[in-house]
Amino acid sequence: MKLGLDGKVAVVTGAGSGIGAAISLQLGSEGTKVVVADLDADGARRVADDICAQGGKACAFTVDVSDAEAVKRLIDFAVQTYGGLHLAVNNAGLDGVRKATGDYPLDQWRKLMSVNLDGAFYCMKYEIAAMLPGGGGAIVNISSILGSVGLPLASAYTAAKHGVVGLTKAAAIEYARMGIRINAVGPGWIQTPLLSEHLEATSSRRMEALQPMGRRGNPEEVAALVCFLLSEQASFITGSCHLVDGAYTAH
Ligand code: NAP
Repeated sequence: MKLGLDGKVAVVTGAGSGIGAAISLQLGSEGTKVVVADLDADGARRVADDICAQGGKACAFTVDVSDAEAVKRLIDFAVQTYGGLHLAVNNAGLDGVRKATGDYPLDQWRKLMSVNLDGAFYCMKYEIAAMLPGGGGAIVNISSILGSVGLPLASAYTAAKHGVVGLTKAAAIEYARMGIRINAVGPGWIQTPLLSEHLEATSSRRMEALQPMGRRGNPEEVAALVCFLLSEQASFITGSCHLVDGAYTAH
């Protein structure tokens, strides 16, 4: 489906893999100019090359979203390269160690917060500043089902993803009259390297049995929702978190 994103400029973080790669590829196929940003330089380059090979426009940028100065350089690069910024998807994220809250290692807590929550804030801070001179834009922050419900042994991830939803809501109200729409998307269990890393075959089967649809989602199913929210078809949608979870949180 063509969403009217042709010619827009987008930044996608964590775009070298999984959900971010699928979002970047769909944006590229819509005619959007995509800055494919990731800590993993090779992954970002592969995705940017794929977009270009399919006739789209994209370039790769290496960034650590937990470094505010690096994020500012990313947004400056997008504006200098393509002449402005209209769309952004703040997707870079990490899973954490599985530990009860009382045993959660301090350094692991800080690391997860710095990427999953501080990173989303740094991105929004500089994206908003870049979008305002052009009259506005649309931002999607990737939260999780764990931005709506809790998971034992994942307090840092759950807290960070709830934080992303709160950040989204507050900023959406602030910029609602300035032409910037800001939403969050909460994916359920999606088949990507992030999920595979933490699941052995047995827990994977147990987890699949908990899915009302009996399967995990795929990154393209998340990308479809994100691209819709970025488009003008979602012109009255802002400040909300949209789940794509196969009814996981409906339990
Ligand atoms: P993924 O395949 O692991 O992709 C995440 C990408 O982000 C990787 O390329 C990773 O690079 C990059 N990244 C990590 N830390 C970064 C940093 N500090 N700065 C810039 N890039 C960084 O994971 P995914 O499953 O697509 O997850 C994408 C987002 O969806 C995350 O925010 C995740 O929390 C969220 N989510 C995923 C699921 C799921 O089931 N998969 C469910 C709910 C929410 P490296 O490989 O070099 O670390």
